Amino acid sequence: MGERRIEAALRQATDTQNVNIAAGASVPGVFREGFGDSPAVVVADENTFEVAGKEVRRRLERAGHTMIEPYVFPAEPPLYAEYSNIEKLRDSMREHGAIPVAVGSGTINDIVKRSAHECERPYMCFATAASMDGYTAFGASIEKDGLKQTLSCPAPRVVVADLEVLKHAPGHMTASGYADLLGKVTSGADWLIADALEVEKIDPTGWSLVQDHLRGWTDSPAELRAGDQESTQRLMEGLILSGLGMQSYQSSRTASGAEHQFSHLWEMEGLGHGEGHEGTPLSHGFKVGVASVAIAALYELILERDLGDLDIEALCDSWPTREEMERSVRAQHTSLDLERGAVEQTLAKYISAGELAQRLELLRDVWPGLREKVRVQLMPAEQISKMLQAAGCPTGPVEIGLLWEDFEATYLRARTIRKRYAVLDLAFEAGILEECVDELFAPGGFWGRAAASHARADEAGSFRRSDEA
Ligand SMILES: [Zn+2]
Repeated sequence: MGERRIEAALRQATDTQNVNIAAGASVPGVFREGFGDSPAVVVADENTFEVAGKEVRRRLERAGHTMIEPYVFPAEPPLYAEYSNIEKLRDSMREHGAIPVAVGSGTINDIVKRSAHECERPYMCFATAASMDGYTAFGASIEKDGLKQTLSCPAPRVVVADLEVLKHAPGHMTASGYADLLGKVTSGADWLIADALEVEKIDPTGWSLVQDHLRGWTDSPAELRAGDQESTQRLMEGLILSGLGMQSYQSSRTASGAEHQFSHLWEMEGLGHGEGHEGTPLSHGFKVGVASVAIAALYELILERDLGDLDIEALCDSWPTREEMERSVRAQHTSLDLERGAVEQTLAKYISAGELAQRLELLRDVWPGLREKVRVQLMPAEQISKMLQAAGCPTGPVEIGLLWEDFEATYLRARTIRKRYAVLDLAFEAGILEECVDELFAPGGFWGRAAASHARADEAGSFRRSDEA
């Protein structure tokens, strides 16, 4: 079933020709199909080389391929997707004509994706963890000149995911992939809004690839956590198809909304850290997961309101001018780089008071239908939180090392860092963003209750500790 879905998706894809997800997937077979008799070079870090790189190299060699000496990054300090690593790998690749085979997960894949592109060479990816949806996506997320950015480069021509390897990946990596995939619930809702308000039309192919089977891919978090092969396979299928959705639409709109804006902001601010994995940066998926709960909770308050009954005239009267908007964005950010980027992104989606009036009139007309569609698309925040928890993911700010005040401020700041129109823009334009955030953090609100239960658990913890002492 999943195979047929992937085959159909590959017909829409521009870069990826072959995806093979199976237990004991055949590496030489798909390599030959993709690259003929070309020589190959395995690229890995010391960990992924041990786990799978050695074996991939052995199988290709046995099948008669000329193998260049593997390029293996050190395991310590943990490999980071920064541009200097791309330069090193690219320079080494220029010394031979071999096809790189990236053996690893997000970071290795991103480094090889961009290096191969700079050598104008296609590549193959051997995935070692179902940890994010970037394998088949266009572009690589790389830190360059002090800024994390998406550098343009094609997706791999061939992707192999051996379920035996994926099943034995560290649990937090699989959990991260699950959270990244579950985030498509809220990103889909954001696209529904952008579509209804004629900001960005839904592309049926890009939408279907990510959304049509999302419920099925994510419905067994506890089994996934226990290492069930079928659940792992469905997760990987979802992540691969989500990447193919981005590839076919040539944009991450298909798979990323306000929950990703939260995650990107935390990343840029250097906030949040991984519990239990000292020294390793908090995974993309874990940030997206907590943010999806946050955005679903915001949606609940928005959907309770009648946005067909707004005082459009008053909202337009108090709408900031371009200059006022710029000043307010500058005041919200403390780092200069972030401030500069945020001004550019916010002004790129700035509309005048007159355009706001038109948009809010359109909102008034479409609201009843849009509200219904968004309700069908979403899940309650509480349910998303329970599913994440069952998969072994964090569900709130405290678990990812965020202070409550930073977390609350994210609701207002995240809108400014990406030009993509999402629910935060809708709430801002409808003049209800701040009141909704106040409601979420009030004593009876979604986060107010969570904060209180954390405080109680903390007290009980310190009581126990002092008891033991
Ligand atoms: Zn993501």
